[in-house]
Formats: sequence, structure tokens, C-alpha cells
Amino acid sequence: MSENVQVVVRVRPTNKKTCFQVQSQTIKTLEPPVKSFNFDHIFDESSSQTDLQAELCSKYVLNALEGYNACIFAYGQTGSGKTYTMRGGTANPGIIPLICEELFEALELDNTTVSTVTITYFEIYNEKLIDLLGDTSPRVREANDKKTFVQDITTFRVNRVEEVLEYLSVGDVKRSVATTRMNMESSRSHAIFTLSIKQKEPDGSIRESDLKLVDLAGSERANATLGIDNGRRMKEGSNINKSLSTLGRCISQLAKNSKLLIPYRDSLLTWVLKENLGGNSKTCMIACISPTDLEETLSTLRYATTAK
Ligand code: ADP
Ligand code: MG
Repeated sequence: MSENVQVVVRVRPTNKKTCFQVQSQTIKTLEPPVKSFNFDHIFDESSSQTDLQAELCSKYVLNALEGYNACIFAYGQTGSGKTYTMRGGTANPGIIPLICEELFEALELDNTTVSTVTITYFEIYNEKLIDLLGDTSPRVREANDKKTFVQDITTFRVNRVEEVLEYLSVGDVKRSVATTRMNMESSRSHAIFTLSIKQKEPDGSIRESDLKLVDLAGSERANATLGIDNGRRMKEGSNINKSLSTLGRCISQLAKNSKLLIPYRDSLLTWVLKENLGGNSKTCMIACISPTDLEETLSTLRYATTAK
């Protein structure tokens, strides 16, 4: 398995009957037929945001400062804790604010490099990009060097965590307004927050890295294409299905160091994430589970297992 791909599980707390049991790196079903899965790390239901911070955030900030791109994404059914994990609340910030906090602290301590940090925030809905910090019509383009980038996206320079939080809430309001206008739920779109870091070394050289932090569409939507009479829902469902299954295939090939062509182009999501998944990039999948739902959880654990 490639050291660039890490797969972890986060179990959402519940006061209902759970169907799973966690023992260090293994999670298994409580009732027969017993199915068991292993992961790099399992954050059980007693885990706090601080536990995720200690295990994940510092590492990805260090990687970014060394010039590695990265992608951290939360996968799982609606209600499994993806937004809680990535975004969190005011009293219990999630991975996005915690990473920003650590990044700014690290940059402050470094007196030799001059750094700039910029952010973008957009969503992918029905294979279209929607800018959450402005009103542009962003598109993914391929540069001459074959690298993909998002063109015409509103970008802000940030110096402090508080600024990031303000932009995030502006983006979240825009997301919910757009959602209501289009009569859909946010669980049907992928939200992608990007932190771009540019460091100028004393010798004049420039080091750049790009961190994409992703709250994916609910994975149950991918399976919800059958038995639905509504054409639009069906299109949404099959687009979500296509992007999540393509993401799974890309990561599984990357984790195996496969020499096959990685199918980034098969969905807008993976095309947008190309520079954050392949090459020297570091990838972390957080499989979020709600342990009361046996079938959806098994489906998430299987997806996460094939990504290893
Ligand atoms: P998703 O984004 O996957 O649909 P949410 O993050 O919105 O799920 O979580 C669903 C509910 O469960 C929310 O009310 C959230 O605050 C709560 N929740 C999720 N994970 C945790 C956790 N680890 N600790 C406490 N509350 C959680
Ligand atoms: Mg959510």
C-alpha cells in the first residue's frame, strides 16, 4: 500500500443500539455473519475533534509546508458526521479550522520565509462548479504542463483563522441559499475548501502547495438512483454515483501504485482533485459512519477498504 494514501474511520456517537464494535484498528459487526475490517486508524465514538487534530492536522500542515499537495475528504451517508468532522461547530471546530489554526501558528514561528495563504470555497452539484465566495462561473482547466486548475474562482488572501471562519460562514450561507433555490439538499453536493500556500525562501525560491478539504455528497445518494420516479433526482443520483465511484477507483489505483491510467477525467470531482490525489500528493480518506445503520455502514466500510 502506498504511504501517500491513508484511510481512517470515524464513528459518530449515538444513544441508540449500535451494530458495530471497535477494537483498536479493527471494526466488526456485532451480530453474525460477523464481518471485520481493518484501517490505519479508527476514531471511535468517544473520540474528540482534538484527537483528530493530533492524529491528522499537524501532519498535513507539515506536509504542506514541505511543498506537498494534499486532499482530506469525508465520505459517508448523510447524518454520519462528515460536516461535523470537516467543519465542526464554534465550540468544537473541525478539520478545516483546526488545520488553518495550525498553519498560521507554524507560519508565524517561521521568520525566514515570506508566506501568503489564499482560499477558495466551491461546491460541485450535478457536474457543475458553484463558487461559494462570489458570483463567478468557475471551470476546471488543464494548463500547458497538464496540471488541472480551477479558473475564474473567487480567491481571498487570509492571515488569521478568524478571517477564514468568516469566509466559511459566508460560503455556507450561500450554499444553503442556492440549495433552497434549486430545491435540493446540501447532501447532494460536494463542498470543496482549498488552502493555497506560497512560501518564498530567503534564497528567492518559491514553494507552493495546495490543500483540498472536502465534504462529499451523502453516499446513500449514489445508491438511490433506482425506484425513483423523478428524472432530476435520478440524474443527481447517477452523477453522485459516478463521482464517488470514480474517486474510489482513483484512490485504489493510487494506493496500489498502479501503473494504469488513473481515471481522473471520468468525473468533475476527480478532475478537480487531480493535483491533490496523484503524484507526490498525500491523501486521507475519513470514512464517517453512523453505527446504527448496518447496511449503509457496511457499504461505507467496503468502499473505504477498496480504497486501501
Ligand atoms: P453529515 O454531514 O454526514 O450529514 P453531520 O456532520 O451533519 O452529518 O452530523 C449529523 C449530526 O450528528 C449533527 O447534528 C452533528 O452535530 C452530530 N455529530 C456528528 N458527528 C458527531 C460527533 N463526532 N460528536 C458529536 N456530534 C456529532
Ligand atoms: Mg453534511
